[in-house]
Amino acid sequence: MMAARLPDATLVCRLPSVRGRYIENVDLSGSTWFRAGGSADVVFRPADTADLAAFLTACPGDVPRTVLGLGSNLLIRDGGVRGVIIRLDKSFSGIEVDGTTVTAGAGALDVNLARVCRDAGLVGFEFLRGIPGTVGGGLRMNAGAYGRAIRDVLVWAEAVDGAGTLRRVAVDELDLSYRHCGAPEDWIFTAAGFQGELGDRADISIRMQDIRQARKASQPVNTRTGGSTFKNPDGDNPNSSKAWELIDQAGCRGLVRGGAKVSELHCNFLINTGGATAADLEALGEEVRRRVQAHSGVMLQWEIRRIGEHAPDRAPELILTEVAP
Ligand SMILES: Cc1cc2nc3c(=O)[nH]c(=O)nc-3n(C[C@H](O)[C@H](O)[C@H](O)COP(=O)(O)OP(=O)(O)OC[C@H]3O[C@@H](n4cnc5c(N)ncnc54)[C@H](O)[C@@H]3O)c2cc1C
Repeated sequence: MMAARLPDATLVCRLPSVRGRYIENVDLSGSTWFRAGGSADVVFRPADTADLAAFLTACPGDVPRTVLGLGSNLLIRDGGVRGVIIRLDKSFSGIEVDGTTVTAGAGALDVNLARVCRDAGLVGFEFLRGIPGTVGGGLRMNAGAYGRAIRDVLVWAEAVDGAGTLRRVAVDELDLSYRHCGAPEDWIFTAAGFQGELGDRADISIRMQDIRQARKASQPVNTRTGGSTFKNPDGDNPNSSKAWELIDQAGCRGLVRGGAKVSELHCNFLINTGGATAADLEALGEEVRRRVQAHSGVMLQWEIRRIGEHAPDRAPELILTEVAP
């Protein structure tokens, strides 16, 4: 029986007045692709960028703040997340095209950005068709696929820092590399500007359909997963070993822990097959890392971000021994 964490009922009283919404004691398990994890004391949905900036300016310094996108690269631990979870709503999801330049809110879906660019006949955004997150999450992760990444089309990004100051920076200032963004962790991206090239709409459409088909054939896309669990050890170097190869060679394909499983289809994906706890998923991931290191000497690094607290009786180190087979 998992011990429940009591929400901080006094927190919302200490938060500044906002035009957006505060929602207390929110179950976050439905907010991630894994469909696992605990709850948030408070979720804040800012009305717009100015509201977000005012909140960050006035929020007491001891209150932790965490921004969530679509939760497609996140494992929220079973004990939940303290402080305020920030979610960017509809007012952050606009996408506008002007010639070959595109402006998108950080809450816009990557797939919608790809579709809008296709409709405008702009080449270069097709890879986003297969990435099930938001523009903001894509900036933080420098999301990429098929040899392209956000940094290849990005021109500028706008963010509000932890003190509430609005910043606009050029792509070079973000230090984007393979699944890495050098912007300070307290920056919350609010919008981004991109540059495309004019191309043939039908060709773009075909490339996007090909990406969709390739994904369906090679990844468990319609399951509860967090995408690639671990980074490739040598980044996007096409000539080096991939994380999935090392995992496969270490015999981890299909490995199970409770309701968590290493995907048979793509063994760098962990799956929640039903009632997996976040601790099941994290412990299975740690077991995969241990076995890969024992087999190949490589210590894989998590690509999935793990946030929040362990439930007291479900810390992964307590249950590592339960992994089967
Ligand atoms: C089936 C599947 C396939 C996937 N395929 C790919 C792939 O091909 N390539 C790839 O790169 N990734 C892939 N992913 C992982 C994931 O989709 C990307 O990392 C995506 O960019 C995460 O976006 P998100 O909005 O879901 O972010 P979240 O998962 O919600 O958050 C990820 C991180 O970004 C931060 N963040 C979110 N929004 C903001 C913001 N506005 N400002 C600052 N920080 C923010 C969060 O705090 C967190 O640290 C896949 C995931 C799944 C489930």
